[in-house]
Amino acid sequence: MIGCTCPVCRSLDYRDQRLRVSVHLAVEGRSIVIDTGPDFRQQMLRAHIAHLDAILFTHEHKDHTAGLDDVRAFNFRQQQEMPVYAELRVLEQLQREFAYIFAEHKYPGVPQVRLHQVEDDQQPFDVLGLAVQPLRALHHRLPVLGYRLADFAYLTDANMLPDSTMMQLRGADTIVLNALRHEPHLSHFSLSQAVEILEELRPRRAYLTHISHQLGRHREVEATLPPWIRLAYDGLSIEV
Ligand SMILES: [Zn+2]
Ligand SMILES: [Zn+2]
Ligand SMILES: [Zn+2]
Repeated sequence: MIGCTCPVCRSLDYRDQRLRVSVHLAVEGRSIVIDTGPDFRQQMLRAHIAHLDAILFTHEHKDHTAGLDDVRAFNFRQQQEMPVYAELRVLEQLQREFAYIFAEHKYPGVPQVRLHQVEDDQQPFDVLGLAVQPLRALHHRLPVLGYRLADFAYLTDANMLPDSTMMQLRGADTIVLNALRHEPHLSHFSLSQAVEILEELRPRRAYLTHISHQLGRHREVEATLPPWIRLAYDGLSIEV
């Protein structure tokens, strides 16, 4: 946090030094990112991602969308538009907030984006030949989407999962779920709420994300969790 001097913000442990949440998926030769937050460019540079095929958005909050402008680097390298997938409300918000990208007469060099609407939140949709199952969740009153690809599921900014989503998560090998802090929060799961849901679903392993500095130091918090639930950290790479 800007200006904070708490033990997490002053920690020298790289696992306590977090950029905004995102995940990059390498699936059957496709390169996909979920959300492009304000740190998108830095994350692409740090992870040496030189090619990107598509972007999925969970919801329209700025910590998940603000980096979209930097897709221009991929447009330039790949000489093609970037396919973007989200539900209608999120696509409309992107069109408002990045009006110059969607202008009729575009300034040369602006990002090139092709919008694809996720129309049905219960049915899998196709992303470059991959079946993606949307996972409905509530973020206080805002409906948001997580996504499941094969045995990997990613859900962030949720504080309620409907039964249908719990069903769609069954059998997933690896689940990523948000856990903000210990104290309850209006629009995010707390640590104990996230752990309770994961214990009900009992995947082989789970990772917690969208962690606030209020959760405490990585090493100390992780030591309190069952071995199959870990705290995600920047740069973490897993194979499913
Ligand atoms: Zn802090
Ligand atoms: Zn949010
Ligand atoms: Zn967020």
